[in-house]
Amino acid sequence: MKTSLSKDHSQLQYVQDFLTKIAEGDYNAKLLVNDGKDEKLAEVQAGINMLVEKLKATTISRVSLDSIYNGISDILIVLNDKVEIQKTNQVVETLLLYTESELLNQSIGKLIQKTDFDLVRDTIRNTYFEKKLHETAFHFITKENKLIPVSCSFSPLYDPHGKSTGILLIAKNISTLVNAKQQLQDKSDELNLFVYKASHDLKSPVSSIKGIMALLDESKDLNEMKMYYKMVADSTLRLDSIISDLLILGRITYGDLEYEQVDFKQVIDSILKSIEFVDGFKDINFNVVIDDNAQSIRSEKGLLNTILFNLIDNAIKYRQNKSEHSYINIHVSSLDDGILIKIEDNGIGIADLQQANVFKMFYRATSTSKGSGLGLYIVKTSVLKLGGTIALESTFGKGTTFLLKLPGHAN
Ligand code: ADP
Repeated sequence: MKTSLSKDHSQLQYVQDFLTKIAEGDYNAKLLVNDGKDEKLAEVQAGINMLVEKLKATTISRVSLDSIYNGISDILIVLNDKVEIQKTNQVVETLLLYTESELLNQSIGKLIQKTDFDLVRDTIRNTYFEKKLHETAFHFITKENKLIPVSCSFSPLYDPHGKSTGILLIAKNISTLVNAKQQLQDKSDELNLFVYKASHDLKSPVSSIKGIMALLDESKDLNEMKMYYKMVADSTLRLDSIISDLLILGRITYGDLEYEQVDFKQVIDSILKSIEFVDGFKDINFNVVIDDNAQSIRSEKGLLNTILFNLIDNAIKYRQNKSEHSYINIHVSSLDDGILIKIEDNGIGIADLQQANVFKMFYRATSTSKGSGLGLYIVKTSVLKLGGTIALESTFGKGTTFLLKLPGHAN
């Protein structure tokens, strides 16, 4: 009796140890307490071992299901039939910033943008009633109130008896797609505006040439005819300037970039040489300072030339007519991450309200402009192409300073 009690005792201890192992997840253990003599014990042992096998199978399938959930790169949410969240995968935490336990038993409404709420509710309802997959696009709202656009499928879930138990949501983050679409839309709007404005601006000198030609036809007076010829010449120049600028824009947008070491002194000197005979050049005092550590930069010479040419040309064009003290100061200095070019004039200046518009295409801030209104748009496009920035400071009636920052190490 004593022996059997102590034997029972050691067997109990063995069973206890075995169960501890199972509880710790070691499903490969096998219970071996029966020596073959006790039939009841043999049945109990077989029963326990069978349970362990089942436990092992369900645990493995749960673990593999979890790894499938977390292996999916889309948002995955399981809802019960009260549309409460029962399960989420890792992507929910990464994208929506909520942990699974924060969402457990919460209504799915917590994650949906208010204006999309009705749409999602109707989709869930239809998925239930029609018992088939539905798809829709809406916005999730993250813990930090950021909107994430998604394309989401809603599939009904059933228990083994065919009773519906909830809904599975699989949502793809379509932010990149939405952004790309927006960019495409912006580009298309810009192109439409460009075509509209370009045709309008090309048409106006052509119309005035046609009008003047009609007047010329009628005119018999030589002086009057001379005046009309001059007007035709002006309109032709304007047409030429618009077409040249459009060609430059095309080259900037579609041309290949060729980077090389560009020497500022050489570029500025050659620009000044090319415009030394333009109207007003002789009246201007040029002051060019290039710091020792900003002599040259690796850049696209053509674009840099286009930018500086337009800024200097404008500074001459928009000088104060009566002033004998017109100046243009050009200062090239080095920054930690690039160079700064300052072009300062004491010209007519740009009124506050117009400053934000001067970089727009075909925008002329003064009625005295004979240009295409494309110069600063070309400048801005070129600067962006070089990865730089441009800003202006201006006081109407006093002068304007353009501040151009270009990336790259100056030498
Ligand atoms: P435009 O062909 O008319 O010169 P831009 O695009 O080069 O076209 O310039 C747009 C407008 O900005 C000009 O019409 C002019 O009113 C103003 N502007 C540009 N540069 C200067 C400057 N340095 N001083 C004063 N106004 C300027």
